[in-house]
Amino acid sequence: MMTGSTELLECPLCDFTVLPTDDYIIQLHFEQVHTTDSPFRIEDDPEDEHPPPLPRRPRTALSTTDAQLTPASDEDQNTVECPEPDCGESIPLSDFNEHLDYHAAESLSFDETTGEYRSKNRAKMHGPKPSAHHAGSSKPSFLEHNLNIELPDALRRHNDHARRSKKRGQRGRSDTMSSEKSTLSRSIQTFNPFAQPNRVKPPSSNCRLGRAELGPYAWEDRMPKWLHDQLAAGPKITLVNRIGRDGRLIKQESVQNETPGIIPILAQLSALDRTVKEAYYCHPSTLHIGKTPKEGGFCGYRNIQMLFSYIQGSRAQGHKDFPGRTPGILKLQDLIERAWDKGINTIGRQQTGGIRDTRKYIGTPEAQALFLSAEIDCAVQMFSDNRDGSIEAHDSLLAAIERYFAQAAVSDGSNVYKTLLPPIYLQQPGHSITIVGFERRRDGTGNLMVFDPMYSTSPAMHKLIGRKDIKAPRPEVLYAYRRVAKQLRKHAAFEILMLTAHPPLFPVWDVGSNPAPSDHNSTQH
Ligand SMILES: [Zn+2]
Ligand SMILES: [Zn+2]
Repeated sequence: MMTGSTELLECPLCDFTVLPTDDYIIQLHFEQVHTTDSPFRIEDDPEDEHPPPLPRRPRTALSTTDAQLTPASDEDQNTVECPEPDCGESIPLSDFNEHLDYHAAESLSFDETTGEYRSKNRAKMHGPKPSAHHAGSSKPSFLEHNLNIELPDALRRHNDHARRSKKRGQRGRSDTMSSEKSTLSRSIQTFNPFAQPNRVKPPSSNCRLGRAELGPYAWEDRMPKWLHDQLAAGPKITLVNRIGRDGRLIKQESVQNETPGIIPILAQLSALDRTVKEAYYCHPSTLHIGKTPKEGGFCGYRNIQMLFSYIQGSRAQGHKDFPGRTPGILKLQDLIERAWDKGINTIGRQQTGGIRDTRKYIGTPEAQALFLSAEIDCAVQMFSDNRDGSIEAHDSLLAAIERYFAQAAVSDGSNVYKTLLPPIYLQQPGHSITIVGFERRRDGTGNLMVFDPMYSTSPAMHKLIGRKDIKAPRPEVLYAYRRVAKQLRKHAAFEILMLTAHPPLFPVWDVGSNPAPSDHNSTQH
């Protein structure tokens, strides 16, 4: 906002306005009304019962060793509830702009008459405001760049604010270069006696974790009944009429939150994109699996489901034990609890207090317990910034993912390698996604291609699915699936879980325009 402007400052999320001189008031309003876990927020959520907080510890007095010994407790975390009506997630303020960008990307559609892409501006935002440019502010976001929308000034300021508070709140990290990076709150490292414990602070292994690690519902005994019922009923399934390749009518099931057939489209779009030197993709049977309405943060389960969609669709190791539809979230919770019963990663039960019928976040330890218990071979690998800051976690991650795909790449004459490899579960601090490919760009950079369970498939992508003759590059559509170094760099650690059984060998990539036959796309003639 320019000095001397008579325009009122508006809250980006509601109708609250103040004079430009009162920008502190709007920050306070934002913290009180729209931010969870803020010290200014007045708690009155009856669902959110948890023990009274411990008295605040003086942060400045903590030395590194003290911090290591401090039991995990509920830390201040600046998170904001997403304003999208069907989202239901708590988003760290520092990720909020990016989160809204991806919501805009999921509404992307192609306007045939104008030949242009359109995206709904669904969060309440200000229109273009040329006076709001800051010297040194970050580059225009996806929204701003593609859709001529300026992100609200107050949000940017809150972003800076969040970064500052986070820096203040960091404990036990002497490495100043990465002091603002987020670390994994739950790691497989606690479970692995051979891991190097001094690289990333492991969570205390012998005590119950709190909201910092398990999310806003860390202390709930059970999720609300409406949500339990929604999950128990499973996603809505509709029958869609399609014309098959033989010209006959096919009735095909369409599952509310599942999208088959995306990977062959991404492979075509990578090939058409001149900034891409080489690209690799995993087995095309992998589905994108998103959320059902308002369910919130079940990303760990949704990514496990995406791995199961590969297992089922490619008839890989374990598929016989999981026939039919994708196993639901309540079933996955049951399988994890049963893995703990068998003695696999049981410390997860003490750390979470049990996950059955709750919304507590899960992580790599639970995913690993589930697959090991189901006798599906898997391996976990960890990436973290090294101590002197010379190697960053995201660089090692990108290199490992490229190697993973390159070892199975067989050239078909194009610069896009279509493999039969499984997708990979990727745990980032606070969120997990599924890696389905990798792009090496002509400028030397590399990026992941991912399915993010937080977002649904855009109408623009839905229109492309099934096509084999795409002619024009569509970077607007690829945007939702790319994760570039700039985005990954903010994290100081990652974990991946790979399925390690030999992938099935029969050809699947060139079987026509319909998705590969699989148990969950039952077709009837
Ligand atoms: Zn507001
Ligand atoms: Zn959201």
